[in-house]
Amino acid sequence: MKSPFDWLLSRFSADIGIDLGTANTLVAIRGAGIVLNEPSVVAVKRGTNRVLMNGTAVGTTAKEMLGKAPGNIMAVRPLKNGVIADFEITEAMVRYFIKKANPSTWVRPRLLISIPSGITAVEKRAVINCAERAGARRVFLIKEPLAAGLGVELPINEPKGHLIVDVGGGTTEVAVLSLASLVEKYSIRVAGDEMDQAIVQYVRKKYNLLVGEQTAERIKITIGSAYATGDEYELEIRGRDLKDHLPRKTNVSSDEIREALQPPVRAIIQAIRNTLEQTPPEIAADLVDTGIVLTGGGVLLRGLDEVIANEIKLPVAVASDPITAVARGIGHILEQLDLLREILETAESE
Ligand code: ADP
Ligand code: MG
Repeated sequence: MKSPFDWLLSRFSADIGIDLGTANTLVAIRGAGIVLNEPSVVAVKRGTNRVLMNGTAVGTTAKEMLGKAPGNIMAVRPLKNGVIADFEITEAMVRYFIKKANPSTWVRPRLLISIPSGITAVEKRAVINCAERAGARRVFLIKEPLAAGLGVELPINEPKGHLIVDVGGGTTEVAVLSLASLVEKYSIRVAGDEMDQAIVQYVRKKYNLLVGEQTAERIKITIGSAYATGDEYELEIRGRDLKDHLPRKTNVSSDEIREALQPPVRAIIQAIRNTLEQTPPEIAADLVDTGIVLTGGGVLLRGLDEVIANEIKLPVAVASDPITAVARGIGHILEQLDLLREILETAESE
């Protein structure tokens, strides 16, 4: 039951949605859509959990510090594989982003946060506690694949199966949706970060050159691919020689990077296969027509859609602007927060 006081509060407070991702955090506000999109990175004083409070400590500027900060500063990614790895730093980050997105309200906001489908009860509790400590008056949770489905405007309320594959930073989430719920879900800890790691390992082995994760990510985005698309590129890269420990540069080709990326790409395809094997036949039949929709930043890897289409033999579509798909879905839900309570989880429903 809503009390008149609740109603009054909701007149004056903002409803804020957060896609709290391993790589990027996006914030949406009811009535305004997505208002913030920044890396989930925080600069802290080394050895403490104290966030550097000079306005450059969170998000884009903090990401530029990754691997480059001087001795007393450390850039931290407080989420690992879609869940909170460092509670205090995540709380500081969420507090900072809420304030940046919504500086002027005097009533504490209601917060809607997306969570991975495979999250444990303890991990879910941590998200709720974190949001409350960061200033939320009430917390609602939505499973990421449902938010992604709404974000790409799939008719997820219908009794028809849809398959969503979200490749983020830390996890790939495969989910079959029907009637606004998850019929099947499968999550692996292989996604964009693992691709970067695969490049670090490859360059290390082949060229005796140590490159940082940021460099690896740049290589992936610039010349990476999952499938030979016909256009081949070369890129000059820099790192530290493993033998004489001196700075050095070398050239890598898109062919080589494609080879480096095969293990994570194969793992993603296997996760889709595993999910389909578990899917009830009537829903599997729907998927022949509805196909696979790809969301998350990792699906921007060139040719990933083609490999998946070739291997799984279903139609594959990359969502437009896949990085914002979950946050767009969260934005839709915020417009009807009071109507959609059934599909949302709250602290009380634990
Ligand atoms: P999360 O939801 O886990 O925060 P995102 O959906 O924001 O993750 O995706 C982040 C991942 O997408 C990162 O690993 C990033 O390197 C990757 N990514 C972004 N753009 C590209 C691109 N053009 N090609 C390949 N990967 C990309
Ligand atoms: Mg995500």
